[in-house]
Amino acid sequence: MTDPHAPDVSPLPPDQDPPDLADLPQLPITAFVDIALPLPVGQIFTYRLTPYQQQRVKPGARVRVPVGKRRMTGYVVAARAEAPAGVETRPIEALIDRDPVLPPELLELARFAADYYLTPLGDVLAAMIPVEADAWGDRRLRLTDRGAMAVHQEPVARALQSLLLERGQMRISEIEEELDDPRIEALLVQAIEEGGLSWDAAGARGERYAAAFELAPGDPDALRERAGRSPAGRAVVDFLGALGRPALGEELRQGVGCSSAVLRRLATLGILLRFSQPRRLALDRHLMSTSARMEDPPPVLALRGDQQTALAGIERALTGGTFARFLLRGITGSGKTEVYLRAAAAALEQGRSVLLLVPEIALVPALAAAARQRFPLALAVLHSGLGAAERQQEWARIRTGEARLVVGPRSALFAPVTNLGLIVVDEEQDLSYKQDSSPRYHGRDLALMRAKISGAVAVLVSATPSLETRLAVVSGRFTPLTLTERVGHGSLPEGILVDLRNEPVVRLPGDVQFSERLIVEIERALAEGDQTILLRNRRGYSPLLLCRACGEDFRCADCGLPRTYHRRAGELICHYCDSRLSAPVRCPRCRAETLEAIGAGTERIEEALHARFPDAAVDVLDRDALRRGGGPAAILERFERGETQILVGTQMVSKGHHFPRVALTGILSADSYLGFPDFRAVEKTYAMLTQLAGRAGRGERPGRVVIQTFLPEHYAIRAALLQDDAAFAEQEMRFRRIFHYPPYTRMVQLLLRDRSRERGLARLTEIVGRISGHPRAGELRVTGPATAPLERLRGEWRLQLLVRGAQGSVVRQVLREALGEKPIPGLAVDVDPYHLL
Ligand code: ADP
Ligand code: ZN
Repeated sequence: MTDPHAPDVSPLPPDQDPPDLADLPQLPITAFVDIALPLPVGQIFTYRLTPYQQQRVKPGARVRVPVGKRRMTGYVVAARAEAPAGVETRPIEALIDRDPVLPPELLELARFAADYYLTPLGDVLAAMIPVEADAWGDRRLRLTDRGAMAVHQEPVARALQSLLLERGQMRISEIEEELDDPRIEALLVQAIEEGGLSWDAAGARGERYAAAFELAPGDPDALRERAGRSPAGRAVVDFLGALGRPALGEELRQGVGCSSAVLRRLATLGILLRFSQPRRLALDRHLMSTSARMEDPPPVLALRGDQQTALAGIERALTGGTFARFLLRGITGSGKTEVYLRAAAAALEQGRSVLLLVPEIALVPALAAAARQRFPLALAVLHSGLGAAERQQEWARIRTGEARLVVGPRSALFAPVTNLGLIVVDEEQDLSYKQDSSPRYHGRDLALMRAKISGAVAVLVSATPSLETRLAVVSGRFTPLTLTERVGHGSLPEGILVDLRNEPVVRLPGDVQFSERLIVEIERALAEGDQTILLRNRRGYSPLLLCRACGEDFRCADCGLPRTYHRRAGELICHYCDSRLSAPVRCPRCRAETLEAIGAGTERIEEALHARFPDAAVDVLDRDALRRGGGPAAILERFERGETQILVGTQMVSKGHHFPRVALTGILSADSYLGFPDFRAVEKTYAMLTQLAGRAGRGERPGRVVIQTFLPEHYAIRAALLQDDAAFAEQEMRFRRIFHYPPYTRMVQLLLRDRSRERGLARLTEIVGRISGHPRAGELRVTGPATAPLERLRGEWRLQLLVRGAQGSVVRQVLREALGEKPIPGLAVDVDPYHLL
């Protein structure tokens, strides 16, 4: 298949000979491997290898194995020379991957997480790999720019390159069939590792090809001559010459301003070589297009002194090349993002990778846009809002090293980058970093562990750090970097307290609680052309639809709590289990038309705002909006462009965003958390209020924040109002210390679900017995068994046990031994719980 016109290039870098099979890295001879399987019983099983498999198997790769009568996919977690004594091992059926799906560091992190969170390793591995990676032979390879340009003498490598230039993209199995050379597999592996080849997901096929061109080999001046007198033709040659790489047809047409006919003519003349390249999926819809446009140059700012000092601290640690931990602290708008983006640039410059974590998907678009502006090629975005093909593409770009800077929510901490230099956890105090289903890990804490394993620098970022992090700074485990000024003229917003006890009594149940003061402030903002953000932590129309005649409240039979009324959708939805009824016009029980919506969620607030301020454009940002057309990026863009005057939403509106035209923020009810039997309720309230205050007055003029509350004397509310962070920290730390709560202790919640309350209680009581029988039980404090705050869910009772101790390792050890290997049905173990419901 040698084509006389094929360019003299290969996917291997020029100075590299094709590998010999003998040179391939080999594992020390191992006859057995430990395989992690996604099974509730135990986690690791040992299997036997054939000599062929011994040569090829690698930790982190997937295999197919027999389990009982079934076949399952498992991960190789370790190699061993001998089988455990007395265990009959079975052979592995097939190797799925040629190279590991997980780099060794992630495998080590998975082991740590399984151990720390008392959770099956298989669960952790499943969380780490969000995509169904293709089997080796199914992988569809394509040349990267580098691979397309590389020049090589070796015939196999050259044949491979021209094959891919011609076909664009091929399955590995097809390539192997076509080229039929024993060295091809080794060649592919090496080219992938060196960035000459990349792969796309099997699911993402067809229609994504685009015509691409490159200069024919030879003297550029001669080529230019041959292009003739047409200025467009010469311009194309010059453009490609300057670019130094192949270019897509559309890139050329735009860059030179020529037509497709010009390109076709040059190709016919043999001046250009035409081939097809798979087009990368543009992730534009996941990026904010208004905040930082890719076409514009990144902002050139002179850092202030405090920013410079902070950056220098991080850069020194990066140069040191070992694990280091920082807390980058400063009020919102003090320029923390600017500092960590520059630190990211420094890490990339060193050839290392960077992970930027944010607490919510809604915060990804703006940060990703800012990152793309600075690092257009290196950026990858990773989160559950991506389509399957997009996610596969991004994952593969990361895995192959094409993308080295990843922006995403907590799960992005598992991005398979290599040579990690920096992990940034923005808004580290945010509770969304904790995952509330198995594996119940905390994104910030695992990010710190990942940095430690990789010898990277971890930077936690916050205006109001978590109590855990504050204590870590006090005890010297973290280096604090503090920004003291707010950028520009912006000063802290004026806090306005509205004591709801003094408001005129609400006439109708469910009337939206807009205090007179809040109305006045909104009117003022509208009159002055400023924007407003209102926080209401409840989605839907009203938390309750009540029949005034008979008291019917559409309770979810399984969860024991009233369903939320969603008027736009015409549904009553249980927010705990998502069971739905269509909303009736009359009461199904007594047939009366006396149904009344009690209380207000975001949807009702929106309606009330329309009624009161008919000329203002209002938008809603909450979880329902994620599913409606446009998604969070579109809503935030409209707001950023000033097309919306008032943005209403759940906590999503108060986190992280930078909107200079927002002069007013308000919370309709600041007390909603404080009544919860959760030791973090105060911390949650304080964080929410300071976040919200941080959204106000980020531009030239000072902002205002209105806090409506029935508890104006509460220390969380006072501290937030007066921006007195030290006062909050002192009171809250004292409370935690006196009552033995984290961070002064380590807590584990055991939550048991059972259809029968008695049986559940009996089983938890038995566990308590086993714990107190442990020799180190004296170091623990056990609370319960008791019913959990949310007593029933999906038809089951929920019972809990809280176990605390001064040393986390002791707590975990006792529990591991008390709970045993065998899983207890219905029991969820939550280490470092954050959502005690
Ligand atoms: P934070 O992350 O602390 O909330 P940002 O880094 O987002 O703050 O900065 C807020 C705004 O100030 C951004 O628009 C940013 O571009 C700008 N900014 C940051 N540092 C400087 C600086 N040294 N000079 C001028 N503007 C700055
Ligand atoms: Zn329910």
